[in-house]
Amino acid sequence: MSAQMTIHVAGDERSVAEGTTAADLFGADRAVVVARVNGVLVDLAHAVADGDRVEPVRIDEPDGLMVLRHSCAHVLAQAVQQVNPDAKLGIGPPIRDGFYYDFDVEKPFTPEDLKSLEKVMQRIINEGQTFHRREVSDADALVELKDEPYKCELVGLKGGMSHDDEDAGASVEVGAGTLTIYDNLRKDGSRAWGDLCRGPHIPDTKLLGNAFKVMRSAAAYWRGDQANNQLQRVYGTAWPTKADLTAYLDRLAEAEKRDHRKVGAELDLFSFPDELGSGLAVFHPKGGVLKREMEDYVRRRHIEEGFEYVGTPHISKEGLFHTSGHLPYYKDTMFPPMEFEGADYYLKAMNCPMHNLIFRSRGRSYRELPLRLFEFGSVYRFEKSGVVHGLTRVRGMTQDDSHSYITPEQAPAEIKHLLNFCLGLFRDFGLDDFYLELSTRDDKHKDKFVGSDEDWQIATKVLEDACVESGLELVPDPGGAAFYGPKVSVQARDAIGRTWQLSTIQYDFNQPKGFQLEYTAADGSRQQPVMIHSAKFGSIERFIGVLTEHYAGAFPPWLSPVQVLGIPVADDFNDYLWDVLAQMKSQGIRVELDDSDDRFPKKIRNASKSKVPFILIAGAEDMAAGAVSFRYRDGSQKNGVPVAEAIEEVIAAIRDKRQV
Ligand SMILES: [Zn+2]
Ligand SMILES: [Zn+2]
Repeated sequence: MSAQMTIHVAGDERSVAEGTTAADLFGADRAVVVARVNGVLVDLAHAVADGDRVEPVRIDEPDGLMVLRHSCAHVLAQAVQQVNPDAKLGIGPPIRDGFYYDFDVEKPFTPEDLKSLEKVMQRIINEGQTFHRREVSDADALVELKDEPYKCELVGLKGGMSHDDEDAGASVEVGAGTLTIYDNLRKDGSRAWGDLCRGPHIPDTKLLGNAFKVMRSAAAYWRGDQANNQLQRVYGTAWPTKADLTAYLDRLAEAEKRDHRKVGAELDLFSFPDELGSGLAVFHPKGGVLKREMEDYVRRRHIEEGFEYVGTPHISKEGLFHTSGHLPYYKDTMFPPMEFEGADYYLKAMNCPMHNLIFRSRGRSYRELPLRLFEFGSVYRFEKSGVVHGLTRVRGMTQDDSHSYITPEQAPAEIKHLLNFCLGLFRDFGLDDFYLELSTRDDKHKDKFVGSDEDWQIATKVLEDACVESGLELVPDPGGAAFYGPKVSVQARDAIGRTWQLSTIQYDFNQPKGFQLEYTAADGSRQQPVMIHSAKFGSIERFIGVLTEHYAGAFPPWLSPVQVLGIPVADDFNDYLWDVLAQMKSQGIRVELDDSDDRFPKKIRNASKSKVPFILIAGAEDMAAGAVSFRYRDGSQKNGVPVAEAIEEVIAAIRDKRQV
């Protein structure tokens, strides 16, 4: 009889025999794919030790999904080497919604290659191969992997991996400890394949079922370095069930249909000319209307909420950004300087330093606080060309940026005020599903943040209290703070459930110090204000991108570039319909008349593609009755509406910011 041990299973104390594995504890439940022992993920085959804290990890939890997807990457690599034994293996980490594996192959994979790889993978999965962990010495690993140069390189890197390598997923294969190779065994015990990997993995390939898919391939440099060999990265996805996979693919298709770059081109809103360079957009007249409507509304709302509209230039001498602390902390994100008249000038990546100069331009009294400065500030950020994406990740953008200068005592009320203001704005734009994220300092890397422990504690508490009071879901983001203070960000879910980070509200006790900002307090003493940075939409460009996807281009009437499109049943009614439109136009409604040579049904089709909210039709009956007919976006129709009533309906929809 073997010795008994005491372990803690999901919080309960249990006595088990020595040699008990996680599979013995949880194996009966097929949905449990790995275990967490003392906080570390392990294979189910792992034998627990006395005193261990053991928890099951299910296939549909984030960690379980990661292991499932990474295990699928092994199956992909096995399939690639089955088809092409000369393919050399790079790395194969899980990523959001899927996984990839890098291969050194003679020529890139074609779509047909990817299809047939999927078939080979399905055969491997159906074999029910099991994953087996085997510890190896560095020397043995190098012998066994002599035909895998990239794996050998990773063995050499062991323990000395850079942050970039870890970010790039290289730590999936080797950690700081003993090397391990995972063998895939068939049901008859024969070895099908193996790979250097830290693990853990699912116990059996069968768990992948048919809920996986090879998505696409793209070139990628080994270890993300352009000086290295170019590999081919194959992306795939895997889910607990076929239904989950189908739902995911449907979401992707829906997102693709709504892609703002595509919709923006179809509706003639904006474009990204190559001549300008990556991440720089131009707005066409129709996109210009959308942008102007947004800006006008946002400017008016700011003024109503007590903000003062200011203006600042696009460039500044570098000293300003040293005073603000953005240099050197933020240097990688700023465009390189231009040198002239003996000084280095930077394109501004943020507006705060300039607002501070406005605050400092004369003496300030406590009576003026909160002082809220606001502008549409154009900022430039050096995003890597690989991450630039349409309007949502750009290099030049317009922030609806404000800075509130307050006494420390005013901070709780000001943050609450800003938060409510942001949420109200989003609701006006048709977004009403939010959660908040609280980004705090990374206490392990204090050197990346400026300010005392006490300052950080106070600021974090103030933000947290405001978040809790809002009643919204709050997600912690440790380490995500700006270098100068913690922040709250508003995350909004769009029409298809994706989340977008919009507003940020940042508490800053550092810039006021750097700029020696002061106000005269009630007792005549000089005090330092706190500043709160806040961009409500992040940027106007990005928000237009988000709205375009949220509405799939079918904007509510108040934002629609064209609000009413007139389509006469025949040319004879052009003049009559134009008369009606002219009355609307005189009331500020944006109208167009389709008097082209196209036939009526074609005009209707074009109009519905253009996503105009109101189509007005006029024929003989309408004209005789002094009426028009509405055709709405959903294809429904309302006939014989008296002209005055029609105008009132359109005006009311615009005024009430209604979606139609
Ligand atoms: Zn692995
Ligand atoms: Zn700022």
